[in-house]
Amino acid sequence: MKINKVLIANRGEIALRVIKTCKRMGIKTVTLYTEEDKHLPHSYMSDEAYPLGQGTLAETYLNQDLIIKIAKESGADAIHPGYGFLSENTEFCKRISEENLIFIGPSVSAIELMGDKKTSKVKMEEIGIPLIPGYHGDNQDAEFLKTESKKIGFPVLIKATAGGGGKGMRIVRTEAEFIEALEGAKREALNAFSNDKVLIEKYIENPRHIEVQLVSDGQNNHYHFYDRECSIQRRYQKVIEETPSVAFGSELREEICKTAVKISTGIDYVGAGTIEFILAPDNNFYFLEMNTRLQVEHPVTEMVTGFDLVELQIRAASGEAFNFKQSDIKQTGHSIEVRIYAEDPDNNFLPTIGKIQKIGHSKEEGVRLDCGFADGTYISVNYDPMIAKLIVFADNRELAISKMNTAINEILFNGVKTNRDYLKRILNHPKFKSGEIHTHFIEVYADELKPQEIPFEEKAGLIAASLFLNKNNTVAGTNSWNSIFNFRNI
Ligand code: ADP
Ligand code: ADP
Ligand code: MG
Repeated sequence: MKINKVLIANRGEIALRVIKTCKRMGIKTVTLYTEEDKHLPHSYMSDEAYPLGQGTLAETYLNQDLIIKIAKESGADAIHPGYGFLSENTEFCKRISEENLIFIGPSVSAIELMGDKKTSKVKMEEIGIPLIPGYHGDNQDAEFLKTESKKIGFPVLIKATAGGGGKGMRIVRTEAEFIEALEGAKREALNAFSNDKVLIEKYIENPRHIEVQLVSDGQNNHYHFYDRECSIQRRYQKVIEETPSVAFGSELREEICKTAVKISTGIDYVGAGTIEFILAPDNNFYFLEMNTRLQVEHPVTEMVTGFDLVELQIRAASGEAFNFKQSDIKQTGHSIEVRIYAEDPDNNFLPTIGKIQKIGHSKEEGVRLDCGFADGTYISVNYDPMIAKLIVFADNRELAISKMNTAINEILFNGVKTNRDYLKRILNHPKFKSGEIHTHFIEVYADELKPQEIPFEEKAGLIAASLFLNKNNTVAGTNSWNSIFNFRNI
């Protein structure tokens, strides 16, 4: 069925991202906005926008009744959920199809199967996919789980089966710590997911997080769009992503991509999805989980393959058979994405708020900014602190890092403290540059990633420049001392 009008059940950068592709495909868009979001671009860049009023997330962006009502009233024939929010909510998917609307995403059964870390592992075992040694059975008795952990061998990782966003996970290094860690993980899981079931995995030391982008068209054609390396993480959340990964050569890449396609075929998947793997230092890789939606870091894949993943999602959801072959999908050049967070890395990463005076932009080719804010809009603590993604594309990794260094200086987010300088410090760390990265990079090099003490002579020069700028300041309300620091390449 042809899709003519899409309601986007999300906000910010991902809502704008979906609008962009819909426009190109001649599809009308409907967006939603809360009172707080009424000045954000997603509220005026769509063909129609409807207010959700004021209230909690449950009353606004997660309000299924209201969203479906707006979809019906506006005459939308499909709903794109973006990521987060309702994107992996099976009840929402069911209700959408009951209303004869199209959910731009996989089937309810695929989300149900893969959305749970336990059921997905059972299925992976069945189709012969390598799993991290561990226990993912039904027995939740604390002593039993401790005995299983001893069999697996410490350190182990306790994980919420319903987990996501790094919540409900605890590393346990010794038997003595087990019970307390288990209670902590269960408490956090119950709070975040209303489900306190856990599983146990062998904790792999210094692994890489490698994932494979998949898209299937619903006509039994399953494709991979290569790998992404997402090892630069803080508290299990990705901060910098890139493709291709420097971790392996073409042989291992092919093997890991083929394994991902085997999963997609094995579960009759439809639409875009990501298989996350843990790559151990000995080059063994293991299935971690599947994300049954568009991923935050999808742009790097678009940069190196030239495919528009949102377009493929829409075409798959409308029942179209893709007219290309796996061999038509090529991975060319190198792409890096940094996630810009409204947070203060120098103050325990506390969320920051404020009015964005100026975002800035880069004119360089191969630089993409996915951002849901505009100059003069506000950032609050009511939503996710990720405010933008900056993506670059270049011929190779070295050039991509260098291009990111330039672009990040041009995209400044003046007025709100962000993790921008912190990102620069990661990008310029010798171990990042040489590609020697793993999921504990940020932890291991924490001291080196702190701002360096500025030499006295340099400080004096900056003060002089600040005094000069104070006289010539053109950006209203900007403290020139801060703006100099924002421009510093540290
Ligand atoms: P990605 O690799 O795309 O970042 P994540 O699992 O980190 O994948 O999730 C993407 C977004 O969805 C993040 O903003 C995260 O906070 C949110 N998210 C993920 N899982 C959940 C969940 N179970 N409940 C609420 N939000 C979630
Ligand atoms: P989430 O649903 O929260 O994204 P994942 O299972 O994908 O949970 O794990 C998130 C991150 O935690 C991974 O990217 C990786 O850095 C780390 N991790 C997960 N499992 C293991 C493991 N068994 N050993 C070491 N690190 C792990
Ligand atoms: Mg994950």
